[in-house]
Amino acid sequence: MSDAVKVGFVPFSAPVRGLMVVFCDEALKFGAATDKALGKAAETVKRAAAANQFKGKSGAILDILAPEGIKVERLIVVGTGKASALKEKDFLKFGGVAAGKLNAAADTVTVIAELPEGAMKAEQAAAIASGIRLRAYKFDRYKTKKKDGENEQVRADVSIAVDDVAASRKAFAPDASIVEGVVIARDLVNEPPNVLYPEEFARRASQLRKIGVDVEVLDVKAMTKLGMGALLGVAQGSARPGRVVIMRWNGGKKSEQPVAFVGKGVCFDTGGISIKPAGSMEDMKGDMGGAACVVGLMHALAGRKAKVNAVGAIGLVENMPDGNAQRPGDIVKSMSGQTIEIINTDAEGRLVLADVLWYVAKKFKPKFMVDLATLTGAIMVALGTEHAGLFSNNDELADRLIKVGQETGERVWRMPLGSEYDKLIDSQFADMKNTGGRHGGSITAAQFLQRFVDGTPWAHLDIAGTAMGAPKTDINQSWGSGYGVRLLERLVADYYEAKK
Ligand code: MN
Ligand code: ZN
Repeated sequence: MSDAVKVGFVPFSAPVRGLMVVFCDEALKFGAATDKALGKAAETVKRAAAANQFKGKSGAILDILAPEGIKVERLIVVGTGKASALKEKDFLKFGGVAAGKLNAAADTVTVIAELPEGAMKAEQAAAIASGIRLRAYKFDRYKTKKKDGENEQVRADVSIAVDDVAASRKAFAPDASIVEGVVIARDLVNEPPNVLYPEEFARRASQLRKIGVDVEVLDVKAMTKLGMGALLGVAQGSARPGRVVIMRWNGGKKSEQPVAFVGKGVCFDTGGISIKPAGSMEDMKGDMGGAACVVGLMHALAGRKAKVNAVGAIGLVENMPDGNAQRPGDIVKSMSGQTIEIINTDAEGRLVLADVLWYVAKKFKPKFMVDLATLTGAIMVALGTEHAGLFSNNDELADRLIKVGQETGERVWRMPLGSEYDKLIDSQFADMKNTGGRHGGSITAAQFLQRFVDGTPWAHLDIAGTAMGAPKTDINQSWGSGYGVRLLERLVADYYEAKK
């Protein structure tokens, strides 16, 4: 993890060393503390800005080596754009772009957390710190040789100079748990499938016990007893047995109904007997991005001691071709009692989720369930990689997800559900079939899931385009993005948590 980058807070009066990061607006104006720290170097900045046509646009960078007039090795000026309309995600971005300029050699960094009109608020300085940590993440544990300059983990000791050190530390404490949650999710998605298989995934999720999460692991015997025939049908083709992991964080009142999050955890998806083509099949190690998000989210909630009762449930399997693998034409019985005709064994995620959603709905009677799944390639055809697909039977929940998506930058776009689509998965031999044909593939997948939520307010996020391989951003350079952790943490914080 980015433990190599340490972030702390110091007062404005602390001495500036090494690499200095400062912020200016489109008028190239600095705040008073920054002006003081720059001293005679202000003139150097002006000349460099003119020479580089730097106009202080949001996220733009002016990078000055050994600036004249000040004793720092490097000066990085980050543009804030119009300082009046800044949101939290802008401060994340500013931290991210600044961290993007760090290299292995820049080991001491001072960030002056000040806008032209005055000191950044504690929450804003905390967001800078989060942005730095998220950007610095690198997954390189399997690289044994580092070529010159390439693949070096950035090492830095970052001091963020602020007006109120205590307030900034307090603001960052919960955010640090959220960053760790994102890092956990990214690590899980990036891990190779020979290392991360259902039992190992369950073991890692079980580590949440250390921070007060109740963790229960259901093995094949327990799942058989519960009648989870849909999930087990997928799992039976692998030499590695499936698992369901139930994580509970009880931070709310005892009597309070929990909120629930369900994740698809297909640790590797070959497609099964309906095997996928070879091209890019290696990416299917990321078919557990939903489950990874749920683990990261539970870490974030427990880490910051959220005042909420939350359930996280993940279905972990490998979808493999094998003498014992399920066949197209098989009919399986789900825990709900509903029967499913398997048309395509590559439509396995919904089979896993069907039993986990039903189990959670029945056992915990949650206020709502949000499931996350790298479910369909069709969602990328519809939305690209900028939005996750949102499907919901509840307008209030959907609207809240859209809102927190805009705030966090983890955006969702609502897609339709309807009885016309639902008909497409009726089967001539069973209660339903597991695919609805080529058209509207993401929608028929969601219709399938809806048959297993038992009327619970529910939202489904199809994260096939956002959880892995999405374009790199200012705060994410990793293949596994950790998408959804910040989104759902904010959903809980803004709408479902007892106010302090
Ligand atoms: Mn599949
Ligand atoms: Zn899959």
